[in-house]
Amino acid sequence: MRLNITVLPGDGVGSEVTREAVRVLRTVLDLYGYEVSFEEHAIGGVAIRQFGTPLPDETKHACTNSHAVLLGAVGGPEFDSLPPGQRPESGLLALRQALGGFANLRPAIAYAAIADCSPLRPDILKGADILFVRELLGGIYFGEPRGFDASGAAAHNTMRYSETEIERVAHVAFRQARMRHRKVTSVDKANVLETSQLWRKTVTRVAREYAEIRLDHMYVDACAMRLITHPGSFDVVVTENLFGDILSDEAAVISGSLGMLASATIGGKVDLYEPVHGSAPDIAGRGIANPLGAIASAAMLLRHSAGLEQGAQDVEDAIREVLDKGFRTADLSPQHSADPQRGRTKRVVSTAEMGALVESTVADVVDRRRAYHAV
Ligand code: NAD
Repeated sequence: MRLNITVLPGDGVGSEVTREAVRVLRTVLDLYGYEVSFEEHAIGGVAIRQFGTPLPDETKHACTNSHAVLLGAVGGPEFDSLPPGQRPESGLLALRQALGGFANLRPAIAYAAIADCSPLRPDILKGADILFVRELLGGIYFGEPRGFDASGAAAHNTMRYSETEIERVAHVAFRQARMRHRKVTSVDKANVLETSQLWRKTVTRVAREYAEIRLDHMYVDACAMRLITHPGSFDVVVTENLFGDILSDEAAVISGSLGMLASATIGGKVDLYEPVHGSAPDIAGRGIANPLGAIASAAMLLRHSAGLEQGAQDVEDAIREVLDKGFRTADLSPQHSADPQRGRTKRVVSTAEMGALVESTVADVVDRRRAYHAV
């Protein structure tokens, strides 16, 4: 199989972490006998400097004509004074719109080796591995009418959902649950909102097509609390746009650092993979950014765009193994963790060293598995 991947490093640490994600992707795809071409294009502040616009036509065209898009991050203080429509972030919003993905997938994983980086107790975190499936194109962020009243003293937004919008994202959640622990928690506010009543009814109907999956419904307020008290009790969480935005950020605390978080936006013309963090101008250019969120996003690319579930798991195993061996980027290092004593055996590595460690470990993981199957 041949894969064309558009790479958009963007600004700040975006280019540093993307370089490491591409390095790992190249190695894994090679190990699995895929041919791959990476084409790099400008987006965000870099594109403003080069082309005067945050999303040049050439970039958009390359993205819509590839198998997948891997993005770093956009933005930076030098662009903060520009009008909102001209800032780097507007290029990313326009790209997401052009690609049309309606399901945003965000894993929140508690890695045992870095449990001390989370504000939650290790016994609470134990085993937590959640996949959020957030509806991305509907709900209150897009509903009309919206705006301020003539007086400016009142404002309104509209939350709207159709059955079709709910059905398609519910199918994504159930299909993901099939590959995981076969449990879906659908989150709504059906005791108050009509959109949530439609949500609950529709998800329940879709569930009949997935008899092997257990479906729970949970109110969003109860879910917000349970994510902190019992994060290990969730598998796949499916919810509408606004609730998903808030809950997935809340659940990020279980991973211990923003640099660990990955995402995929799927269901449109071309799927988009990006770490959750921004361009981190405070650490950009120093080679200390954590590339694991970008690398985990590359694993999601292998799973969803390359059809390489095993390759995705190999990368995820390699990330876990590198952390288990005590390697840390600065954000996961002892001064950031609650208990400095536990940091003594850790080794702090640069962005590039962490990328190289995951790359060599993933090759070992594949070798070991192949050797095991050969005997
Ligand atoms: P940020 O995510 O860039 O940084 C927040 C904090 O997390 C900083 O202290 C940073 O050093 C740290 N951090 C982020 N990524 C890290 C990594 N990989 N390794 C180690 N530490 C990391 O958020 P911000 O500071 O609010 O925003 C900076 C710029 O990024 C702004 O211009 C913002 O608009 C933009 N932004 C872009 C995206 C995106 O491209 N998807 C997302 C969020 C923010």
